[in-house]
Amino acid sequence: MEREVQRVRKAFQSGRSRPLRFRLQQLEALRRMLQEREKDILAAITSDLCKSELNVYSHEVVTILLEIDLVLEKLPEWVTARPAKKDLFTILDKAYVQPEPLGVVLIIGAWNYPFVLTIQPLIGAIAAGNAVIIKPSELSENTAKILSKLLPQYLDQELYIVTNGGVEETTELLKQRFDHIFFTGSPSVGKIVMEAAAKHLTPVTLELGGKNPCYIDKDCDLDVACRRIAWGKYMNCGQTCIAPDYILCEPSLQNQIVQNIKEIVKEFYGENVKESPDFERIINLRHFKRIISLLEGQKIAFGGETDEATRYIAPTVLTDVDPETKVMQEEIFGPILPIVPVKNADEAIKFINEREKPLSFYVFSHNKKLVKQMIDGTSSGAVTVNDVIMHFVLSSLPFGGVGSSGMGSYHGKYSFDTFSHQRSCLVKSLKMEGFNKLRYPPNSQSKVDW
Ligand code: NAD
Repeated sequence: MEREVQRVRKAFQSGRSRPLRFRLQQLEALRRMLQEREKDILAAITSDLCKSELNVYSHEVVTILLEIDLVLEKLPEWVTARPAKKDLFTILDKAYVQPEPLGVVLIIGAWNYPFVLTIQPLIGAIAAGNAVIIKPSELSENTAKILSKLLPQYLDQELYIVTNGGVEETTELLKQRFDHIFFTGSPSVGKIVMEAAAKHLTPVTLELGGKNPCYIDKDCDLDVACRRIAWGKYMNCGQTCIAPDYILCEPSLQNQIVQNIKEIVKEFYGENVKESPDFERIINLRHFKRIISLLEGQKIAFGGETDEATRYIAPTVLTDVDPETKVMQEEIFGPILPIVPVKNADEAIKFINEREKPLSFYVFSHNKKLVKQMIDGTSSGAVTVNDVIMHFVLSSLPFGGVGSSGMGSYHGKYSFDTFSHQRSCLVKSLKMEGFNKLRYPPNSQSKVDW
């Protein structure tokens, strides 16, 4: 590990990752990789997540293509120094802010969207002129393999490398010194990463998870709300960091919500969900058993069928869920949707604020005043009103958490900023020394003390 990191650092120190032209060439090569090797990439992700190629393409590839196009267009502007406002003492000088690369960046990915969660930060890191070591999740092993096979065929082999492994290898990797660590994963491992980074004073971006609340107001088009919620909840079999984790609503809405979601599930996945090419499976047996255990003692309004051999868990809704039960104590990360009845919007706000700050918060309502009250009264990485997930795809919005759902953000220009240092530059002339005498001793204070 030490030798690998040193090799990458030496490549960074050669300076070749810095010129704008080089960065653009590497990003174009990355785009070519996606175009020429699309089939191999889709096959790898499909086999890791039992996912249809069409879903893989729309969940993982489109975002990357759009991101590369955006960066190729905007990078010349982003790398340019920005003039800074001057004062009386610097009026004749040059003052500007110059973004510069941080150095060697480590990107650690999660398995649930194994391609986009490593490649999207990679785009930002290359754009900002860094060298990069990528450590994909070992659980999505086919994607990890294809990344380590393809990236060296298209990108500079010394500046950008993939290293594979699980806990043991990552622990070893984290002992090395990096200039930034970009981590996507659980809050518990996020703490391990941050502790390791602190030993070298390495800054971190932590893209973590948690429980994302979804408040449905009575003044709302329930059919539309339930369709959007069901789409975001059951996509990728519920294994999405920004999936709505649970619903908060007034007790009178519960039955109608259950009925609507039941019909929508049929509309999306047909009579037999198990046969649907659009419904994925749980990543492994450990997670399958963990999710099943969350159903214990719960009122299953519909769904609840499971099959251990194929790690299938049906789209499920739980009603009248007690906030003290296990399903409300941890991130579900599976196709189970609990409904927790609350008296009103004030109680929903209190409920959310008593818990860890979520990565995303969703509100469904026609009532603009109520929407504002919910946004102003809570805190989360992001909030989307009358939809779910969609803030992720708008690259003009920073994507990231707050509190235990993470720190820092990325996407579009925010990725470039995350992987850049904003260097303050003040360039003075050696002339005009008479003017400077004001600040020199003796008695410098008396000269400026009016
Ligand atoms: P995880 O924390 O178990 O693993 C993430 C990465 O950390 C993997 O590469 C893994 O190899 C490594 N890792 C695991 N244990 C480690 C240890 N002890 N020491 C060092 N490295 C270790 O997370 P996961 O199961 O891959 O992903 C699920 C979690 O990630 C959920 O909490 C989800 O909400 C979150 N997530 C967040 C985002 C986001 O953008 N905010 C996106 C996807 C997933």
